[in-house]
Amino acid sequence: MTETTTTMNCETIANKLLTVEQALAKMLSPLNPSTKIASIPLSQALNRIIAQSIQSPLAIPPYTNSAMDGYALAAKDLSQERLTVIGTAFAGKPFQARVESGQCVRIMTGAVLPKGTDTVIMQEQVQCFDNQQIKIQGQHQAGENIRAIGEDVQPNDTVMTKGQTLLPAQQALLASLGVTKIKVYQPLKVAFFSTGDELKELGQTLAYGQLYDSNRYSLSGMLNRAGVKAIDLGIIPDQADKIEQLLLKASQQADVIVTSGGVSVGEADYVKQSLEKLGEVHFWKMAMKPGKPLAFGKIKHAWFFGLPGNPVSVMATFYLFVQPALFKLMGKTDDLPIRFQVPCLNDIKREAGRMEFQRGQLHYNNDGKLVVTPLAGQGSHCVQAMSHANCFIIIPQHCAYIEKNSLVEVQPFAGLV
Ligand code: AMP
Ligand code: MG
Repeated sequence: MTETTTTMNCETIANKLLTVEQALAKMLSPLNPSTKIASIPLSQALNRIIAQSIQSPLAIPPYTNSAMDGYALAAKDLSQERLTVIGTAFAGKPFQARVESGQCVRIMTGAVLPKGTDTVIMQEQVQCFDNQQIKIQGQHQAGENIRAIGEDVQPNDTVMTKGQTLLPAQQALLASLGVTKIKVYQPLKVAFFSTGDELKELGQTLAYGQLYDSNRYSLSGMLNRAGVKAIDLGIIPDQADKIEQLLLKASQQADVIVTSGGVSVGEADYVKQSLEKLGEVHFWKMAMKPGKPLAFGKIKHAWFFGLPGNPVSVMATFYLFVQPALFKLMGKTDDLPIRFQVPCLNDIKREAGRMEFQRGQLHYNNDGKLVVTPLAGQGSHCVQAMSHANCFIIIPQHCAYIEKNSLVEVQPFAGLV
């Protein structure tokens, strides 16, 4: 009875909070993609976001060529008893003459298909007599082992659109089209700092009640992996005037400011004063675990994200809110958070009311099937469990129990950045 009452209370409270989806939509809606664009060489464009669409100036393949090492011939000669080998076609050294009926050409992979031929027979399927004549073995079809001109890309095809990320495959595509320079969005500048009287820099001695600032390490890593220019502004004590000064400085040098700590109840009002004075910042409570409190708004021209202080909450709120927001500001349109369902190897019992992002480890069981194990240490301060995790297990807001071996939704970290 007591349990039911508690659950109802939590649910009632949760119903007054923003859901994770509502908060994300609300956060993303005022954000517009960057207009700062630069033209850079393709060789330096890895991980950059393209700010133009690209039409192909060429066909790919640029000429019809052989997909195999073998013999090029006309399909109508497939039934001939023997064919005479009249020369060799190499990649980069086309065979110039026309191939007549009863003739064939030895051809290497990538060589231009000689005039008069339309089919290539693999060398393994041919009996060769003194490199002069061949006899074809087995059954074959016209057009076998040919890569036709324009099969992959036609001239004027739109091969990339604005907002796509230049990964190795895209770089290879543009290189194959001879594109040397491209327009990309300038990287966002993101200033970040930690707030807290208890925080110390690495290398300093810890007094009783103090701890090392770990959030700047996770933030720096996540920002760098998101492809922004990260500006580390250090640690700031819980003092409104100092926070205010640093926020002002950050707003002058960055497009986005990310802080950790000081947004929870108690401290919140304290930091809140300086934020309210400097700009328009709202404190949100979301039905999310970890990471209920979050501040979002604008200080001068810079967007502001005030993340909670607990180390796991920082990473969860960054992945779920800050990163999509940064991507939108960067003009990136191809972000696709990967989520799928796998069996969960343990029971999960919890209080319903908030969407929870538990830390889990995806692995293969003895049958080679992908499964997930929730890690011990689900507290929002447990950095070690986070470091052993490779995915979030997403538990819907109103779910209180997940039975062992039932399906749960997971979001792998590798797909996040
Ligand atoms: P706060 O959100 O400031 O109330 O902090 C919540 C918890 O996170 C407290 O236990 C803090 O000591 C801890 N915390 C805050 N900032 C950091 C940080 N940069 N590194 C490690 N722990 C932190
Ligand atoms: Mg604090």
